[in-house]
Amino acid sequence: MGVTVLRNASVLDPDRAELAEGQSVVVEDGRIADVGPGLSGPDDAVVIDIAGKTLMPGLIDAHTHPMSVSMDFASSEWSPTYVAARAARALEGMLARGFTTIRDAGGGEHGLAQAVEEGYFTGPRIFYGGKQLSQTGGAGDYRAPSRRVYEDNYYANTIGVICDGVPEVRRAVREEVRRGAHHIKVYLSGAVDAPSDRVDSTQFSLEELNAIVEEATAANIYVAGHAYTSRAINRGLQCGVRSIEHGNLMDESSIPLFLQYGAFYVPTIVTYHTLAQKSRDGLLDSDIDDKLHTVIGGAIGALEMAHKAGIPIVYGTDLFADMHGQQLQEFIIRSEVQPPADLIRSATSTAARLLCREGELGVVAPGALADLLAIDGNPLDDIRVLTTPERTLKLIMKQGLICKNEL
Ligand SMILES: [Zn+2]
Repeated sequence: MGVTVLRNASVLDPDRAELAEGQSVVVEDGRIADVGPGLSGPDDAVVIDIAGKTLMPGLIDAHTHPMSVSMDFASSEWSPTYVAARAARALEGMLARGFTTIRDAGGGEHGLAQAVEEGYFTGPRIFYGGKQLSQTGGAGDYRAPSRRVYEDNYYANTIGVICDGVPEVRRAVREEVRRGAHHIKVYLSGAVDAPSDRVDSTQFSLEELNAIVEEATAANIYVAGHAYTSRAINRGLQCGVRSIEHGNLMDESSIPLFLQYGAFYVPTIVTYHTLAQKSRDGLLDSDIDDKLHTVIGGAIGALEMAHKAGIPIVYGTDLFADMHGQQLQEFIIRSEVQPPADLIRSATSTAARLLCREGELGVVAPGALADLLAIDGNPLDDIRVLTTPERTLKLIMKQGLICKNEL
């Protein structure tokens, strides 16, 4: 791969929330080699003039499910080939929206990440955790009450793995570590979409949670926890869970714990709004509908509380099945609470810190991976310019490769 120089760029620095005008960005071997005014690169460099555009780091969505292809979670009857085809289409859409990195929050696995890395699928790079750990009857247990057998084939289209007791949770973590997991996802509470559990429950014993965190830490990875109420969130944080997903029903008691443990908050509000629309269209079961209405009201309040307290907030969407097209709407929903600079950081530099890739992702700086977007407009002034990629996203580069160029 040769050298590419992006000239006349207004480079957006998420942490300082400012643009540096007239910059050249030199890209070599998939990474940013240099940033500064008047840089040129070798004679045979490909030069792209991006005068008048904002150059910013590629976006990161830290809560996605490209392999969840159906609203019907109880069914694991999908062929892996079919799932891969659907996931490929979902990933393509994500990249076209400017997401150059995603974190799979459950169900996605090593094969999908490998297919993207080797260029067989077009999409964002994937940080994956494999199956989400669930206790029996927990949020990852989709069996109907009358069903005894859980489909435990790893390549069945189930989002979770059921494990009970310290030896089983240790084995479940080690299985994911063996498959290259970048993090471990655990259900700390019930979920909206599983048939028999309750959103206000806590799940796993403290003994089990401590064992899960111990195993993940041993492999130098971290634990992400699904939770709605502070009762569930606080148990997770006290056991060393690094990120809390959803958190809609959080109260003030969680704030000091987030700060004490340096944990991250990943709200996923757009998925509830999209599901609510499906509910209005009569497409949801009534028990799921009831649970949806329990959590949807708290979402903005929880975001507001976390924002005011200065907790690191990360962009996440939690969309699945046919809902991926709403991925950028989370920016619009959160803009009710957060100013543009905070929204941008949530999907770039703060997300990179959560992924333990600070300086490598989410910044335009020497040494970082060359994940770059050229935007018509300045998202620091108006976040909506990020939400109309078909009109305003002019160039997408992922790890030095140009995926879109309409300049
Ligand atoms: Zn999720």
